[in-house]
Amino acid sequence: MNRPARYAEVALDMPMAHALSYRIPSSLQGRVAAGQRVLVPLRGASTIGCVVRLTATSRIRGIKPIRQLIDDQPIVSADLLQLSEWIARTYCASHGEALFAMLPGPLRRGRRPPPAVAAEGAEMSRASPSEPRVPPLALTAQQTAAVQRLRETLTAGRHEVFLLHGVTGSGKTEVYLHAIQQLLAQGGDSIVLVPEIALTPQTLERFTSRFGAAQVAVLHSHLRTSQRLAEWSRIAHGLAHVVIGARSALFAPVRQLGLIVLDEEQENTYKQEDTPRYHAREAAIERARLAGAAVILGSATPSLEAYSRAQEGRYTLLTLTERIDRQPMPVVELVDLRRLPSRGGRPVLSPPLETALEHTLADRQQAILFLNRRGFSTFIQCRGCGTVARCPRCQVSLTFHQAANQLVCHHCRHCEPVPNICPSCRGRYVRFRGTGTQRVENELARRFPAARIARMDTDTMRPRDSHEIVLTRFRRREVDILVGTQMVAKGHDFPQVTLIGVVNADTALHLPDFRAAERTFDLLTQVAGRAGRGTLPGRVIVQTALADHPAIVHASHHDYDGFYREELRHRRALKLPPVAALAQLTIRARVEDHARTAADMLLRQLQAVRRPAAILLGPSPSPLYRLRGQYRWQIMLSARTLEQLLARLAPVRALRRIGRARLTIDVDPWSPW
Ligand code: ADP
Ligand code: ZN
Repeated sequence: MNRPARYAEVALDMPMAHALSYRIPSSLQGRVAAGQRVLVPLRGASTIGCVVRLTATSRIRGIKPIRQLIDDQPIVSADLLQLSEWIARTYCASHGEALFAMLPGPLRRGRRPPPAVAAEGAEMSRASPSEPRVPPLALTAQQTAAVQRLRETLTAGRHEVFLLHGVTGSGKTEVYLHAIQQLLAQGGDSIVLVPEIALTPQTLERFTSRFGAAQVAVLHSHLRTSQRLAEWSRIAHGLAHVVIGARSALFAPVRQLGLIVLDEEQENTYKQEDTPRYHAREAAIERARLAGAAVILGSATPSLEAYSRAQEGRYTLLTLTERIDRQPMPVVELVDLRRLPSRGGRPVLSPPLETALEHTLADRQQAILFLNRRGFSTFIQCRGCGTVARCPRCQVSLTFHQAANQLVCHHCRHCEPVPNICPSCRGRYVRFRGTGTQRVENELARRFPAARIARMDTDTMRPRDSHEIVLTRFRRREVDILVGTQMVAKGHDFPQVTLIGVVNADTALHLPDFRAAERTFDLLTQVAGRAGRGTLPGRVIVQTALADHPAIVHASHHDYDGFYREELRHRRALKLPPVAALAQLTIRARVEDHARTAADMLLRQLQAVRRPAAILLGPSPSPLYRLRGQYRWQIMLSARTLEQLLARLAPVRALRRIGRARLTIDVDPWSPW
């Protein structure tokens, strides 16, 4: 016989190893369920928690009662509760931290969800799309094949992960729209995740014009708090059936989840950089598995993780090899900077790029100049042959540390003194830090005084709107040349752009990051994908001092498979993801000694357990050794599988301090600092 639940386990939004037990007072008997928020006493104060389980007995004596019920009904569904448990376990967070991260800010702080207000025109049922919506496009043969395969799974209502590998401009979004359309007709809900940077009015328009704004909910970080909460309520009450948003939209409280789409699944913004440090791709797949829903991962340049799983048959591969209307892929020309005279330093614009800009302006067409400035680190490059000092063990480029006059490998922690001359050509080494957009803009203004130039980067773009203003001006042809960082590279569709110039393709290659080549390949492919999207053919000019680097060579040939094979071989040799699972443990303290000592203590704790087999690297200084007044050390832990990695982390997973320092554990790290 079932005994009545008299106790509740409550998860709190703070680091702790377990949920806490509380007694359900008689006044609340029968009214408490998992997924409801409550106020509970903790160290003399009232704290918000969420009930995760009810129990009939408790072994704790003098157990304290729940003080108050915040919700009459659960606001976290059973599958999201389970997902939060999975996130906590996989990413070394507490259950409460994972759970509260799923809720909009005000709900974390104890506000009650507002009543759901239907958007205009919502009285129409989803089965009768009578609103003047934009009809679906007639699909190409390749799109049809992909949609048909998706349809089988959606009709069957089973869990399956698809990798939609389609070149830029091949119409992946149209495939998503068809899948969502079918699901709507079946009464199912969809969640579409896009990288924050791609969450533009243009993207949203494609969804709202197809399904009607009433059915679509948008969740992104630029919404006002009240708007976010209103959208959340609309979804929770079953008024919106298509949710679009950045990473955290993954936790939207849809009721009939049938499909999650991750567009540009390789983007690093899908990895959350604060606790809980989850990866949206992995969490989306787990949520879909729990709900029996399908997942579509879309990309022109899939992550090695996704593509290797597709090769192993764990994901179903769908391919779109042709651009819409069979537009040819743009021709990519490499300009080898090593062959240019280097008198007075390298020019920003090589002669071929300068000539191409001249022609573009003369023909009254538009150009984009792209700069990759992600990165802070200084590396050492030979002036003569372009060789960058690399780690003898793992080939990751070495970072120059001025204070110590040393080169450090931020992967395996190898250290060496700074060489004076290049070992391959005896040329002189120079310190190098990429060029800024400002410098490119100045150079263009000097060279082409009549051209209308606009700049777009994170420095010039404080309010979100200014970003949109520049793009609108560019689209209206009020700007001839747009200069920008990665934010111009992704997702935009400018049919009248005929020239793309990449000022320096190499900068990302020199980051102390094992994904450097993958990111460079991705960026170059995306940048090249911006060219030739209209009726005019596109031309791409890439300036590089590493014209024979695999990432650059394969990107210039639009050869994903070639790049993938070469990069996977490299990862396999070095036991890096996707062939291994990694965790990065960072120790930080204001006093240099405290950090160092704590790092050694942590290493000993990790060494105390010997099984399952794992590799420990470090401790070594972080690539950003001093950050916000703190000294930082890192230990890297690597194991063959995620399960083995988590087993080795078990003794330290709940620690947030060690000695006199703070500890963070990042499972599946995407940022080396
Ligand atoms: P991707 O997401 O693969 O880069 P998009 O979905 O943005 O590609 O499609 C590129 C362009 O082609 C868009 O302007 C889109 O409206 C158009 N398009 C997509 N599918 C079709 C189709 N079947 N017929 C005509 N145009 C299409
Ligand atoms: Zn190394």
